[in-house]
Amino acid sequence: MKVPFLDLKSPFVELQAELNSAYEHVMSSGWYVNGSEVSSFEKDFSAFCGSNFSVGVGNGLDALVLILRGMNIGEGDEVIVPSHTFIATWLAVSQVGAIPVPVEPDEITYNINASLIESAITKKTKAVIAVHLYGQPADMDAINTVAKKHGLKVIEDAAQAHGARYNGHRVGSLGDAAAFSFYPGKNLGAFGDGGAVVSSDKTLTEMVRMLSNYGSKIKYEHDVQGVNSRLDELQAAMLRVKLKVLDEWNKRRQQVASSYLSSFQGISDDLILPECAQGAEHVWHLFVLRHPKRDQVCRYMREQGVETLIHYPHACHKTKAYVNYKHHLRVSEMLAEQVFSIPMGPHLAAEGAERVVEVVKKALVHV
Ligand SMILES: *Cc1c(COP(=O)(O)O)cnc(C)c1O
Repeated sequence: MKVPFLDLKSPFVELQAELNSAYEHVMSSGWYVNGSEVSSFEKDFSAFCGSNFSVGVGNGLDALVLILRGMNIGEGDEVIVPSHTFIATWLAVSQVGAIPVPVEPDEITYNINASLIESAITKKTKAVIAVHLYGQPADMDAINTVAKKHGLKVIEDAAQAHGARYNGHRVGSLGDAAAFSFYPGKNLGAFGDGGAVVSSDKTLTEMVRMLSNYGSKIKYEHDVQGVNSRLDELQAAMLRVKLKVLDEWNKRRQQVASSYLSSFQGISDDLILPECAQGAEHVWHLFVLRHPKRDQVCRYMREQGVETLIHYPHACHKTKAYVNYKHHLRVSEMLAEQVFSIPMGPHLAAEGAERVVEVVKKALVHV
């Protein structure tokens, strides 16, 4: 039995009737950009997040860039970022001309270690980006406390955590602004690229909207040098259908995760299981294990037909894109060597998950 890493066809099949009628509706309307599907989705999504405003944009990276630009962060500024994250978090900071300053992750949750943030702050620091990595909310109380003390903005990179809660509050409502991605594989995924900025700050969201639409509020009047980064009507219509099932689909992910956790409990000292922090509700974008012989475990699993992926095989400061970074970041470098992600998703059936467990157990005997 083969188990793919992620099944992107079943979500379509489950919602086919509704998605098709959303498609028909948009296609026959003759209106494809900046229309009522996007504005309805923006209202639905900000309400879902417990925030006041949202702006549909082209993708998650642009959402981060537009937030930074909207906050006037750029040349000469520093932004604190987790060293262990998808590289988009860093690229957004670099794209606006600011400098990403890495902070190591907590060894248990893999999210930014909030107790290390203060020592990374300088006179140039303007903001902290908190990534809710793998679907688990970051330690937001501690991050907000240190940010407030030093007058820093807090930006959530919520691209992996749609719907997750922290002390009962949704991600997207936990900082000054949040960036979401609707890349197909995310917990709330479109059928192409898409993203959103969510915030309760009206001035900021108006600025983001203007920047994302050629720096224009009124057609052909350009107040700032903006870009073209918009969510389109078709994707927004599909996302409205999928938003309705997001909580239910996250619950299915949580069920898969709890069956994995109980099956793997205590089977090997070398197999390190994911852990949830107090108050953090995990929505399991990824189920990430650790093993000192990660590559051998993954090779064996692939031979048995179970796909795994690595998130991420190279720490950002070790990539060619950041060759000028000479940092030694022990925890991030260790994680890049040891983590691997096993199949996870709302359409992973019980038999599939059981097969994954069986193959992981065999792999541990084998390596
Ligand atoms: C996916 C992702 C992004 C970027 O989103 P795109 O829509 O692919 O541009 C940013 N940050 C994190 C943590 C992500 O996982």
